[in-house]
Amino acid sequence: MTKHLDNHQKETNRLGDANVESPRLSHQARRAACLPRGLSSVTPLCVASGSGAELTDVHGRTYIDFAGGIGTCNVGHCAPPVVAAIREQSDRLIHACAHVALYPPYLDLVERLIDISPGSFPKKAMLVNSGAEAVENAVKIARAYTERAGIVCVEGAFHGRTLLGLSLTSRVSPYKQGFGPFCPEVHRIPYAYCYRCPYDRSFPSCHVYCANALERLFVTHVSAREIAALVIEPQLGEGGFVAPPPGYLERLREICEQHGILFIADEVQTGFGRTGALFAVEHSGVVPDLTLMAKSLAGGLPLGAVVGRADVMDAPSTGGLGSTFGGNPIACATALAVIDLVATGAFLDRARTIGRRISSHFSELQAAYPLIGDVRGMGAMIAMELVADPRTKAPVPEVTRTLVKACYERGLVILPAGVFGNVLRALPPLTITDSQLERAFAVLDEAFSVVARRI
Ligand code: PLP
Repeated sequence: MTKHLDNHQKETNRLGDANVESPRLSHQARRAACLPRGLSSVTPLCVASGSGAELTDVHGRTYIDFAGGIGTCNVGHCAPPVVAAIREQSDRLIHACAHVALYPPYLDLVERLIDISPGSFPKKAMLVNSGAEAVENAVKIARAYTERAGIVCVEGAFHGRTLLGLSLTSRVSPYKQGFGPFCPEVHRIPYAYCYRCPYDRSFPSCHVYCANALERLFVTHVSAREIAALVIEPQLGEGGFVAPPPGYLERLREICEQHGILFIADEVQTGFGRTGALFAVEHSGVVPDLTLMAKSLAGGLPLGAVVGRADVMDAPSTGGLGSTFGGNPIACATALAVIDLVATGAFLDRARTIGRRISSHFSELQAAYPLIGDVRGMGAMIAMELVADPRTKAPVPEVTRTLVKACYERGLVILPAGVFGNVLRALPPLTITDSQLERAFAVLDEAFSVVARRI
């Protein structure tokens, strides 16, 4: 293990020494010259290729990938069935635009999504390019169906960077700052963030008191009759991998039903096996009216989907929905190959095993370092929250960034998250091997030993 770390360090030094005019610097310089600074990357990595759970940079150094393209690569980089589907479809048809003419991969995929998504009622599906576009369309559909304008979302939510997505998103810096005004008719309630309970209660004695904030919202802020939908992630993604306790989503669902409000599950980051179920909402037993998908749906190609109740999906009039590239044939063919891989018991079992291993390693680290205030998450969507002191829980975003850097320098790509930027999250491809997991853990151990104070 240490050997891998030593080799990685030696290789980094060799490349650094050998190149005064370092290609790495030159990539950085090209980036600074051409890209707006708002478009940032967590690492200085310039990737040449990817395979399974590894990335190789332009200098030939390999990294274990605990970021998985922020959850877009659940089936691994360049999974052979994905590559084959791309090759095959690109020989046949690259694009036609669904508004001009449909093609079999589009129809095959929507049928498949209807089949695998939550809910046994009649469903329909539409395809788009991204998570944000799925969110935008779901809100349009919900408004058309209910003839109401209001949308409820939660603290810590991330629903994209388009102006409506951003209006629903809940982190000021760097996402929202300077980009207002935002869309009206957006209302927010706290999430069930037990580690930082907004009501200072604890589960289970709280009886998910926080869910009742939705009912209070209808007394203090807005009439329930003006609310079209609740949009919610079954486990927060960018918001810090906060997994709600049992009963929370169920209670919200109940309140929505009482008031004719649609329940929209944003499964953009949680979907396609990440939490050990095909969709995270399945852990709760809640059946959403609409389910939103993107990220891992097409194994790294841009594709998103809105899937749900046929009567709701049919509310917008003919021509009211659309997207020039949405449901591109290559992305559809690829998504069909991805679903064949992920919708199997073996794939979901492996996701749960990976999650258990990550969770237990993070817990071992927590026992050694007071810096780790919380370890949490469902399935293989696991994170640790870093704090100055377990009692004060003061967030330490700068230490989190230092750890991300220390991991990168030792060959592990890992991302921060959380509204305070103090969460380290693991989103590895779910094809990661046991030995790659061990290498990742060795890097984490060493990074913590360098950066953090032991108990
Ligand atoms: N919804 C969730 C839960 C997400 O995590 C993201 C992206 O991280 C989005 C929506 C936006 O997706 P995209 O970046 O594809 O627009």
